[in-house]
Amino acid sequence: MTNSGLTSNSTADEARVVDAVPTGLFIGGSWRPAASGRTLTVDDPATGKVLCEVADASPQDGMDALAAAVAAQAAFAAMPPRERGEILRRAYELIMQRIDDLALLMTLEMGKPLAESRGEISYAAEFFRWFAEEAVRIDGGYAVAPNGASRFLVQKQPVGVCLLITPWNFPMAMGTRKIGPAIAAGCAMVLKPAAQTPLSMNALAAILAEAGLPDGVLNIITTSDAGGVMEPLIRDGRARKLSFTGSTQVGRKLLEQAAEKVLRTSMELGGNAPFLVFEDADLDKAVEGAMLAKMRNMGEACTAANRFLVHRSVAGAFADRLAERMSALTVGRGTEDGVDVGPLVDAKGRDKVTELVRDAVDRGATVRVGAVPVDGPGYFYQPTVLTDVPLQARLSAEEIFGPVAAISVFDDEDEAVAAANDTEFGLVSYLFTENVTRALRVSERLEAGMIGLNTGLVSNPAAPFGGIKQSGLGREGGKVGIEEFLETKYVAIGFGG
Ligand code: NAP
Repeated sequence: MTNSGLTSNSTADEARVVDAVPTGLFIGGSWRPAASGRTLTVDDPATGKVLCEVADASPQDGMDALAAAVAAQAAFAAMPPRERGEILRRAYELIMQRIDDLALLMTLEMGKPLAESRGEISYAAEFFRWFAEEAVRIDGGYAVAPNGASRFLVQKQPVGVCLLITPWNFPMAMGTRKIGPAIAAGCAMVLKPAAQTPLSMNALAAILAEAGLPDGVLNIITTSDAGGVMEPLIRDGRARKLSFTGSTQVGRKLLEQAAEKVLRTSMELGGNAPFLVFEDADLDKAVEGAMLAKMRNMGEACTAANRFLVHRSVAGAFADRLAERMSALTVGRGTEDGVDVGPLVDAKGRDKVTELVRDAVDRGATVRVGAVPVDGPGYFYQPTVLTDVPLQARLSAEEIFGPVAAISVFDDEDEAVAAANDTEFGLVSYLFTENVTRALRVSERLEAGMIGLNTGLVSNPAAPFGGIKQSGLGREGGKVGIEEFLETKYVAIGFGG
């Protein structure tokens, strides 16, 4: 029997990659059905059709996964760091060898065009390559106490069993960004991918098993009952860390649950990125950056430029050029050649974009291009540019999560910075200026964990990714990424006398 119902209308490749993915729960190194026998469906957002069914875990399945991770923890923590690094390195090689199939699988479950899926797979694999190298760089310290009477030995140890929860918008990279450092640090884990996009993580689990990851170190549970399955695991106390990527709303709830047993937490939450274009910007760079910051992932990214704030003197030219570029994009199923913009993930996502655009227009915004949902099947929305957007419009405060560029104007730097910071979020801000003094001054004043200075892309496995304010806690990637999975232990050494 095959996983997918893909036959007559789909290519053989599509059916082959879906059929190759394990669809059970991955617990203790084996794939098994949910104890209840229940399954949940995975749809293709470009067609609305069912791709396949995967196991639908119950709270008991979740507890089994936690028990498997707990059983694996001590031996894995004792595995030599070089061996943990080599597992990651082998997995990196395997992912890159299979990039075409993994990209197709991601496009089918999530919708993004194949070229973007390939980009994400390679970005995701880089976290394994990076953390393969970091596994052997975990160090500590030795120091003489100020009064000379004792010595301090500082060592780093794995934090212990981790609970990892990931969203649908980057189905592979949001997983490897957590799994990579957890393996490097020596932590066993239970990961719950988003119900809409479980296939990429299942494919990755199979690759890690093939790369030699010991049974029970990575357990994957797919479920339609995220809260019901994860809350008992968070409150159990045997897991010592919760790492979550998703909305601020759910992140807040999880922080409350994690407080009960005082878990270490990393929170990669929502954003509302301002994109500032000053009068001294290079407009070619700014438009290029805008296309990347807005249209990567169809705008369904926490880093997506949500508010374009442009100096009045260049706002007209910037809007004209952006509108021209946006109207030249081809919307369609991500598997097809020449498609730039795939579907949004579901009807709810598309309806929210429609509603936010309508609200902005009702409040006086002008539609330069787009502003139309595309009739189904699939959840498409035309790339859109709005100008004269009042700052009171809902899309100035809420994540649009779609291909809509909303442009407002400012007259001076103070006004621009005040508008940029007027949000509870603080993930990323983009800033375009050719004036180096202004670049540094405004970068310091912007309230964000990351600044894109004359670039529309900040994501890089070797850099510390994360937000301030209600965009999150902690950092993923870079040198600090592994620290999130390590505890610091200090041994006081009596020294003579
Ligand atoms: P979401 O609704 O918060 O869901 C994220 C994950 O949490 C999914 O796996 C979801 O499972 C699970 N979840 C939902 N409710 C839960 C609960 N009560 N207990 C435990 N888990 C629960 O977010 P989303 O819509 O998937 O993703 C979009 C959001 O993620 C945006 O706000 C975006 O900005 C943010 N994001 C942030 C970053 C970053 O690095 N800062 C990166 C990517 C995305 P189900 O799928 O089953 O609902």
